[in-house]
This record gives sequence, C-alpha cells and structure tokens, in this order.
Amino acid sequence: MKLYSTNNHNLSVDFPTAVFNSMPADKGLYMPMHIPQLDQEFIDTIDQFSLPEIAFKVASTLLQDAIPAKDLKNIIDDAINFDAPVVKLADNEYVLELFHGPSLAFKDFGARFMSRIMAYFLKDNEKTLDVLVATSGDTGGAVALGFLGVPNTRVTILYPKGKVSDIQELQLCTNGQNIHAVEVDGTFDDCQALVKQAFADDELNSKFRLTSANSINISRLIPQTFYYFNAYAQLKKQGKKEVVFVVPSGNFGNIAAGLLAYKMGLPVKQFIAATNVNDTVPRFLETGIYETRPSVQTYANAMDVGAPSNWVRIMDMFQNDKSALQQVLKSYRYTDEETLKGMKTIYNDFDYIACPHTAIAWKALQEYRKETGDKDFAGVFLSTAHACKFPDVFPEEMKAKIEIPEQVKSLAAKQKHATAMDTAFESFKNYLITSY
Ligand SMILES: *Cc1c(COP(=O)(O)O)cnc(C)c1O
Repeated sequence: MKLYSTNNHNLSVDFPTAVFNSMPADKGLYMPMHIPQLDQEFIDTIDQFSLPEIAFKVASTLLQDAIPAKDLKNIIDDAINFDAPVVKLADNEYVLELFHGPSLAFKDFGARFMSRIMAYFLKDNEKTLDVLVATSGDTGGAVALGFLGVPNTRVTILYPKGKVSDIQELQLCTNGQNIHAVEVDGTFDDCQALVKQAFADDELNSKFRLTSANSINISRLIPQTFYYFNAYAQLKKQGKKEVVFVVPSGNFGNIAAGLLAYKMGLPVKQFIAATNVNDTVPRFLETGIYETRPSVQTYANAMDVGAPSNWVRIMDMFQNDKSALQQVLKSYRYTDEETLKGMKTIYNDFDYIACPHTAIAWKALQEYRKETGDKDFAGVFLSTAHACKFPDVFPEEMKAKIEIPEQVKSLAAKQKHATAMDTAFESFKNYLITSY
C-alpha cells in the first residue's frame, strides 16, 4: 500500500511511515494513492460474514501487502473484539450502536486498531513508543483503553482538572500498567500546548520516541470503514437494499471512513453529516464557501469543532468537485434546543435513550425523509457514544433510566491515580524525565 499527501499527490510513502508520522511534513493528510475495489461476489454475499471476517476482508483489500494476512487477522481479532449491532427502532429506522467497546464510544475502533498497528511495526530492539495525548474527554479514554497492556508502548494523557465528566475521568485514571494520567490545573488548550511543546523539545526527543495518537492518523480511519460494511450486511440479511447512513460529525473522520467504504464499493444511497451549530460543512454545501470559525460549546461537545480536520480527505476523495460530492453527501445542523427535543422524542416514541450526538443524527434522518418524501429506504443513524457518558445533559426522569454498563460499574470501585500538575512546561518536562 502506498499513500500520498492530500497536498502533494506525487508524494509516496509506505503504510508504517504514514502511521508513525501521522501527518505529512506539508501538513496535508495521508490518503491511499489508490482506493481498491472489493469484489462484487463479496458484496453480494456479505451477509454471510461476521464483523471480524468483514473487517479482515476490507483491511486486507485496502492494505494490500503492508501486513501479512496471518498477522493482520490477529490484529483485527484482538482490536475488534466487541460488537456493532444495528438495532431496529421502527420500520426502516435503525440505530447503529458503536458504543460497545471499552470506552463506550466509536473512537474505540480507531484507537484499538491504531495501537496494535503501532506495536506491530515497532521493532523488538526499538525504544518504547511514548504516546502523548491531550484530551477534553472522549479521545483520552479511547486512547488509554486502546493502548492498555499493548507491549512496547506507554501513554501519557493530559486532561484539564474538573473539566471532564466523572466517567471520563475514571476511564483515564484507573488503568495502571502502561497508562499514566496527568491532571493539569488549567484548560484543554493548556494541555494541548504542553503536548505540542514536548514534541518540539530537543532533549525530550533525544530521550524518548514520542508520537501523538492523533485523530487524523490513517490507522484510525481504516477500522472505521468496517462497521459501515457490517451494518450493510446486517440490513441485507433483513432484505434491505437501499441504505442511508446519518453520521453525527465533528472532525468528520467517521463520515470520511463511510465515504471511503463507499469508494471501495459499499452500496449506499446517501450519506448525511449531522452537526450541531458548529456548522462549517453544512454552510459550505449550501453556499460553496468554506469558512472555518472558532468552535462554540454545545450539548454534543465531542462535535464542537469549527475547523473539521478530516474535511480535506473527503474533498480529496471527490477530486475537490463539490457537485460530485453533493450527489452523495447532505448535511444538516441543529441547535441545543432541537437536540434536547430530539432526545426526548426518541425516548417517548421508541423508549430509547440516545446521547446528544446520536439525537442530532436522528433529527437529520427525519429532516431528510421530509425533504425527499422518500420512506422506502433503510435509514441508519450512528450512535457514537453511550448516553451514560453525558449524564448532565438529560432531564432527571431520563437520566434515572440510563442503564450503566458493567465496564463503568466496575470503574467506580477502582483507585484513581493521576499526577497533579500546573501549566508550566518545565513541570511537565521534569515529570517525563524523572518518572520514565
Ligand atoms: C468524536 C466524536 C464524534 C465526532 O466524530 P468525528 O469523527 O470527529 O466526526 C461524535 N460523537 C462522539 C460521541 C464522539 O466522541
């Protein structure tokens, strides 16, 4: 497999280089130079395969000779060891639940696959890989739990004191082993600044092999294609042929993976990107003007992104042709008020508790049906996180009904370990040098 940069199609790197660099020097994003097609026979019989089998077929088609089949199969079986069920709520109305992994969010797919790919490409005699990550909540948990116990790796997570939810904090601070949490007396931006300074520090770079588990890493994108194929397989089993996917979007990595699956031959009638009021993409599709803005805080805070980092990948897949993209992609935006109303309606009509991100996707599905007058397709909205991660958004009556998964119950009994720190870079640098 060869990859180029979205900024330079003449660049050509192999898969391990793209994984360890995360981003090309020209600040574009890595994309496969050639998007291979799955054979028609596989698509026609996809409903006979399990999620790990589908994942292996898709990954081996995309990665070609980058990883031998036996090793790739082991990586997938280890990384994708939880389900992604399509749950029927009503006729032609389905929710794809992506929160059955260890951190209860879809980011588990990307983080678990990436951690194992990185460990696989590390040579035996190489230095331990030090992953530094700043988090405002969801990413840190997925990365911590994704790398937990992975040989030859060590993760340092910086999170802002008092600014993540209780469950998120437990996910960061109760792991032990190769996971270290640092509680910074500051904001998320302070955490991110410390990580950035560490990457630029000569002394730290000579002592440690530093890497970022950044969401733009190509090895996080690839495993997110698996559940689109698997969802299609589950619907095909029920005789459904026309599928519309609705994706709650922030950095647009999740929907970029869906579009990559489509480019590999997955039959999809329509993709819909649903956003909160951070609506750079819906505005672009309406007006043709791509204008990023500072992010605004909302109930769906994992989507509070004013400059979606994966958007260039989507434009690249469509050769920067907006009208070609618009054949496949629509986008709608919702306010907090509309989001909360959606959460309540889903609860009242289907007895289902959706997190705010998920409710935004459901709203967009209703709007698309209304706009097109089409009722015959299978509408699938993606549920990107479990409701229990965002308890404070729910009205009391609904909050009391949220079922707490076993992984979370067991967290509460564990001891919390985090190193308290101020926002001075010297403190962080000192911590790394003296404790590792
Ligand atoms: C990260 C996240 C999103 C946004 O996904 P993108 O790939 O950045 O578009 C949506 N919902 C939840 C719960 C998330 O954690």
